[in-house]
Parts: sequence; C-alpha cells; structure tokens
Amino acid sequence: MKASPDAQLRLLELADIDAELGRIAHRRRGLPEHAKIVELETRDTELRDSVAAMTAQSSDLSREQTKAEADVEQVRSRIDRDRQRLDNGQISSPKELENLQSEIASLQRRQGDLEEIVLDVMERREANQSKLDSATSERSAIEADLKTVVASRDSALGGLDEQAEAASAKRGQVTGTVPAELLGLYDKLRAQHGVGAAALRQRRCQGCNLTLNTVDFNAIKDAPADEVVRCEECRRILVRTAESGL
Ligand SMILES: [Zn+2]
Repeated sequence: MKASPDAQLRLLELADIDAELGRIAHRRRGLPEHAKIVELETRDTELRDSVAAMTAQSSDLSREQTKAEADVEQVRSRIDRDRQRLDNGQISSPKELENLQSEIASLQRRQGDLEEIVLDVMERREANQSKLDSATSERSAIEADLKTVVASRDSALGGLDEQAEAASAKRGQVTGTVPAELLGLYDKLRAQHGVGAAALRQRRCQGCNLTLNTVDFNAIKDAPADEVVRCEECRRILVRTAESGL
C-alpha cells in the first residue's frame, strides 16, 4: 500500500487520540460510583424484603395481641360473675361455696397465665417495631446516599463525555485528512490488536517495543517513503519519523 509520509504521520496523531478515547472509556467503566451504587441497591433490596416480612409480622402480632386480650377479658368477666354470685348470697350450700371459690382461684390462675401471654406478645411487637423502624430509617439513609452517589457519577460521566466529544471531534478532523484505504487498514488493525499504528523510534517498534532485526530494519530503510510498512512482529503499521534511526 502506498500513502504519503504526511498521511502516515497522521496515523500517529490518530493513535494518540484513540489511546485517549480508550483511557476515557476505561475511566467511565472504572468509576468507583458504579460499585457503590450496586452495593447500596443490594442492601436496599435486602432491607425492602425484610421490611415487608416485618410489616406482615407486625399485623400478625397485632391480631395475636387482640386475641390474647379478649381471652383475658373473657376470664375476667367470668370471675366477676362468680364474685357477684358470692356477694349476692345466692349460694345454697357449703359445697357450692367451696366449688365456686375453687373455680375463682382457678380462673385467677388462668387470668395470670393469659396476661403473661399478652405481655409476651407486646414485647415481641415492640422488638419487631423497633427493628422495623431502624430498617425504615436505614432505607431513607440509603435513598439519600444513592442520590448523592448517582449525582456524583453523572457529573463524572458528564465530564468524561465532554472529553470524549472533544477527542472525537479531533479524530474527525484527522481522519478527514487520511486517505480512505490507509484509514481502512488502520481501523482494521485497531479492531484486531487495539492499536493500528506505531512509530518506529531508534529501531524499535513503539507498538510492541521490540527492536527490529537487521534484515527487517534494512528492508524498511530501503523502502520508498510512500510505502506503508508493517512491524513484522505485531503487524502494526510502522510509521517512520525523524527519530526512527534510519
Ligand atoms: Zn511491533
């Protein structure tokens, strides 16, 4: 392939711009905000699930408490009825009196047991509510953190977008001055190897950093200036410059 030495030199400019675009893309992917956002969203999902579970448990416990309180109430009103019978003197025999007193004592024990259950349910409700409150406030904190991190990510991306746009505009200007055939080869090599062209400096290919052997070096030295030459090691377009050592 033939191309003017000037057009070949433009490939080095192009390679610099493409390297810059590569660095910008790398920085985009490597922003610490990406990992932080995933971490916050993961934690928020965990909390959302546990808030749902605790909310369901809260309404279960509330029903359990209502039921336990109704049980206490039922026993208490039976005790009241029995006491009224005692107070009203409706008892006909000592045997009946004994039975009634024994029933009251047993109902009182039962009431004590049921009141224990009410207390236990209340304690569990309180513990559940306190965990629910702390999960809810952690979610609020995460929401605020996410806003901050997303804003910081967007601002970093915005800055990188501007840099990428400037580099792309510069690239457009340079590619406009490179013959289509040469540009096609450069782009193909770049797609294959990541880099399409490198300078030959002090007998060394700046792409793969290998020093050319004498045979290859002499072949390049003897090649006409408008001949597009390639590195025999990495196959990149080798651009000859004043520093090539030729
Ligand atoms: Zn090379």
